[in-house]
Amino acid sequence: MPHKLFEQACEQSKGLATFDDVQNLLRDHIGVVAGVETVDLKNACGAILAEDVIAPRNVPAFSNSAIDGYAFASASLEASRKLEITQEIFAGAVPTETLEKGQAARIYTGAVMPQGADTCLMQENAVVDGRVLNVPQGIKQGANTRHAGEDLNVGDVVISKGTRLGAAELGAIATTGIGTIQCRKRLKVAIISTGDEVIRPGEDLEPGQIYDSNFHLLNGLAQSSYIILDDIGVLVDDEQLIFSTIERLSQSHDVILSTGGASVGDKDFIIAAMEALGILHSWKIAIKPGRPLAIGQIGEAIFLGLPGNPVAAFNTWLLFAIPMFAYLQGANWVPPQRYPIPAGFSMPNKKTGRREFLRGWIENSDNGPVACKFERDGSGLISGLTRSSGLIELAENVSEVKQGTLVNFIPFSEFGIAS
Ligand code: AMP
Ligand code: MG
Repeated sequence: MPHKLFEQACEQSKGLATFDDVQNLLRDHIGVVAGVETVDLKNACGAILAEDVIAPRNVPAFSNSAIDGYAFASASLEASRKLEITQEIFAGAVPTETLEKGQAARIYTGAVMPQGADTCLMQENAVVDGRVLNVPQGIKQGANTRHAGEDLNVGDVVISKGTRLGAAELGAIATTGIGTIQCRKRLKVAIISTGDEVIRPGEDLEPGQIYDSNFHLLNGLAQSSYIILDDIGVLVDDEQLIFSTIERLSQSHDVILSTGGASVGDKDFIIAAMEALGILHSWKIAIKPGRPLAIGQIGEAIFLGLPGNPVAAFNTWLLFAIPMFAYLQGANWVPPQRYPIPAGFSMPNKKTGRREFLRGWIENSDNGPVACKFERDGSGLISGLTRSSGLIELAENVSEVKQGTLVNFIPFSEFGIAS
């Protein structure tokens, strides 16, 4: 069934939108388009779970020993602390004899507890004389045993729908014995670089040309988003070419991403293409770096026109493309955690009315950790990105930053990106 991602253009999208406006626009207007497929657990890292995983059995399935040592009934010890070792139980074996009072079993980590036993003694603490075990004072009933169902009970939700699967989630599902799960399919995302001056690395540079860093920047980020990034290459600033390419891609892809050409220059055709072919929702966002940004819909495809400057393209991917992908994939998206940290820099004049994202990192000073910023602010300076480990967010109402003022630091890892 056709899915309308945006029903209509939003009024707020006409003028200058705030950061929150655009976040809300994405949250409220983007639906789930990714289909569902059955995935083997070993291929599911990074995928979004399409349905709750319910535990089909208890984990652990049986009570077992947490140590190499000796199992017995704690109540036995009231009569005597000397017990007779009557059986040996290895991991994987099923004990057949019930343990009577006064008896102990030699047992190994992970082995099933014999009937009648409720406590294990570590072999390091055991004094054994032939077939007699001497149990020292102080061992508590139930010590060193793992109870059936203590981790998960049959019927428990192991991992809920919409969760992005990482190592911990995959391990948890595996313990229940489930080997295949229902996940959202990878989104098909076309990526276009635009610009008469832009060529791909590896080619010879003519005067006036620059190398396409955006593609590699975003291709690297895409590795953490469980999408198929389809490289369309570099399009020259030609209206016809841009219109026809975008129209074609809108029929075959869930998302079209472009960098550059989204401003008001005479050779910027991205906005015009969106208006002519679909709906333009939002552009001119009050953030820095990150202008110009265009969000729209062409047919069933979402169009995200990112800025040409590499740092701005990187920023807008983190801030807008990542939640957008999450909504399209049915993922539970939560805003990245902001950590208030004293500024290790000062910024006497910050323009109010827009949100700024400085590239930065944490350093340890004599007074504890401080947030440092890359000294130069230009949104074309890619060295600021390689130096940084996160973004420093300055809210719209901030007009200056003094050394020691608390600023919000957002580690890159909070966006779920690998690097
Ligand atoms: P534009 O929005 O097209 O005017 O581009 C803004 C700036 O970003 C210009 O300096 C472009 O040369 C630069 N730029 C555009 N695309 C890329 C790209 N793929 N890689 C690096 N820089 C780019
Ligand atoms: Mg351009």
